[in-house]
Amino acid sequence: MNILVTGGAGFIGSAVCRHLCGNADHRVVNVDKLTYAGNLASLRQIENHPNYRFVRADVCDENAISQILRDNDIDVVMHLAAESHVDRSIDGPAAFVETNIVGTFKLLSAALAHWQQLSAERQETFRFHHVSTDEVFGDLPFDGSFFTEETAYAPSSPYSASKAASDHLVRAWHQTYGLPVVLSNCSNNYGPFHFPEKLIPLVILNALEEKPLPVYGTGANVRDWLFVDDHARALELVATKGRPGDSYNVGGRCERSNLSVVETICRTLDSLRPRRGGACYRDLIAFVADRPGHDRRYAIDASKIERDLGWTPAETFETGLAKTIRWYLDNPWWWEPIRSSRYAGQRLGAAEKALS
Ligand code: NAD
Repeated sequence: MNILVTGGAGFIGSAVCRHLCGNADHRVVNVDKLTYAGNLASLRQIENHPNYRFVRADVCDENAISQILRDNDIDVVMHLAAESHVDRSIDGPAAFVETNIVGTFKLLSAALAHWQQLSAERQETFRFHHVSTDEVFGDLPFDGSFFTEETAYAPSSPYSASKAASDHLVRAWHQTYGLPVVLSNCSNNYGPFHFPEKLIPLVILNALEEKPLPVYGTGANVRDWLFVDDHARALELVATKGRPGDSYNVGGRCERSNLSVVETICRTLDSLRPRRGGACYRDLIAFVADRPGHDRRYAIDASKIERDLGWTPAETFETGLAKTIRWYLDNPWWWEPIRSSRYAGQRLGAAEKALS
């Protein structure tokens, strides 16, 4: 299969490219604009792989995408390119509307034209896979309920609203034009190569640099965590075996409050890299102003993908987090240049600045 991965230089996209290159039947074309979040260093392991190729392009550039689809005779599009950080969407929603909504529309237009020119047999097996988030479902109370594929959309942030809009466009291209689409809505990912603006890598790196560990509000907000390589396996299954028109919820059944995540990182670092003077990393925790519109809880019912596609996560939160922390300890070559030149850990999304 010739697979186009958009956003393959990002956190999840690079895990998907590394995973797909492990299957000799796949040829992988990674298309990425290389925004602040894109990093070719995350692809070092496969950069010379015979079945892998990188093309720098913007998903909003329909002509460039059309040519890439044609030149590489693409069978499957896995669309991950997006602006992905909720806090940045509060400070500057315009880029989220442009890439996540307009970019998805341009990609759908190019994919539809490409699909219409395929033989009937290849039209049957072609897939457009939109990689989305559980945040489109909005805020869950602390009542033990879960998001299912039937849960109504109720996004709270500019980021989740832009992902909800792109999900709707993708479904419309199936209903209206017959494009064989599949969607997946996944919970919070963590793992190696995660840009250190997100909670887990930010806390690990701030701790190593003896900086405050910011916890929004009281730290009671709950997320359902999934190790990134488990997500990459789920995405390959959805893209290659998912039923056209269907969506699949993906989650690790690992609900943890933000405070408990930060405390677990502190305990693990206390044993792997003790602080000088015998203090605990926990002492660095600093409670800061909450995120505006902060959803209280996300929790995924993943029974459909488990039942229909035979997927289960391999990692528990504890095993995945320990692997992740060890990876950051062993790989400063990857994160040091980001911390020194792209993002040093400053607070984003406190809604004090003018919108742009
Ligand atoms: P990321 O921010 O790490 O990576 C995004 C990638 O997209 C970057 O490499 C960036 O350069 C690229 N990109 C941005 N705008 C582009 C454009 N206009 N054209 C081409 N490339 C562009 O994001 P991530 O965490 O890897 O998330 C990937 C996808 O998965 C996103 O669609 C996100 O909504 C979704 N998702 C993420 C999570 C999570 O926990 N991180 C959970 C569920 C779903």
